[in-house]
Amino acid sequence: MSAPRLEIDLAKIGHNARTLVERLGARGIAVTAVTKGTLGSAAVAHTLIRAGVAGLADSRIENIEALRRAGVTAPITLLRSPMLSQVDRVVAQAEVSANTEGAVLRGLSAAAVAQDRSHGVLLMVESGDLREGILPVDLVGVINEVLELPGLRLAGVGTNLACQSGVVPSRRNMDDLSDLVTAVEAATGVGVERVSGGNSANLEWAFGTADLGRVNDLRLGEAILLGREALHRRPVADLHTDAFTLVAEVIESQMKPSRPWGEIAQNAFGETVSIRDRGEVRQAIVALGRQDVDPGGLVPPDGIEILGASSDHLVLDTGAHELPVGAEVHFQVDYAALLGAMTSPFVAELVLEPAQTCS
Ligand SMILES: *Cc1c(COP(=O)(O)O)cnc(C)c1O
Repeated sequence: MSAPRLEIDLAKIGHNARTLVERLGARGIAVTAVTKGTLGSAAVAHTLIRAGVAGLADSRIENIEALRRAGVTAPITLLRSPMLSQVDRVVAQAEVSANTEGAVLRGLSAAAVAQDRSHGVLLMVESGDLREGILPVDLVGVINEVLELPGLRLAGVGTNLACQSGVVPSRRNMDDLSDLVTAVEAATGVGVERVSGGNSANLEWAFGTADLGRVNDLRLGEAILLGREALHRRPVADLHTDAFTLVAEVIESQMKPSRPWGEIAQNAFGETVSIRDRGEVRQAIVALGRQDVDPGGLVPPDGIEILGASSDHLVLDTGAHELPVGAEVHFQVDYAALLGAMTSPFVAELVLEPAQTCS
């Protein structure tokens, strides 16, 4: 089979999505499934929809277009503010987009009018993480602008934390969001339907807080795909953390000294590495490198250690394992590694379909 390849276990993804939909649904929160980790994979999207998510979301219009071409008809939200140069494509393919800028809203409005469509706007509010977001004091003004622009409708208000600065979604900032929503409804006379409180970093808050206020939607990628919350990367109870496996092939396998010899300067990536002498080790090279994946996000099998990675070579200390040339090594991935592997043209995808059942 071709290598490197990313094996995608749809049954595990479906289980994760269904479990989160049920648990959060019991708390009044709908799940919008975020597909950007899978580069618009239609197989994954169909699995998520079957699991009962309220809709899909992606940060890239290209991924959304790929989903549409593959026949996905579920509502899709574009998570990253549209580029002005892409407003026509956004209006054509996404029901809703996240927005923070008047200029983009006006562009979307013109595109929606030209295409005779209505486009939903999810206004993102800054809650302290200092990535995207309208400052709370400016929200009423922006809502009024949306209400006046033809072709646009207010789909909701959202916020995003723990991405740029690691700000934790807390009772305090989530309550602030709820209070803000209630206040802007009073000021504008318009109801805010969807209140999208955040991402996989919000799970601790969502499961551990008695009153979730106005929040009725979370946008979940990592928790569904990798089974982990995004604050401490702890596994979420009962979810699979191994729905994705990156498989690479051994191209060299030799006993070698663990310590380099000769004068030591920088390596291929400008790092100066210090290496402990551990005597002779069983060293294997797999045909995998930074062109394929972020090596820091790989978890090797037990007993195998990653010694280093360059553009095309991943060097392993295989410990007691004998890995002959041609053998395959299976790695678990974190979100960065998943993104890298999915977007690398060198990594094939192998979708494992759920076992057929009679239902
Ligand atoms: C990527 C992204 C998400 C999903 O984040 P996860 O941590 O993978 O759940 C949610 N919202 C926005 C705005 C994003 O960019």
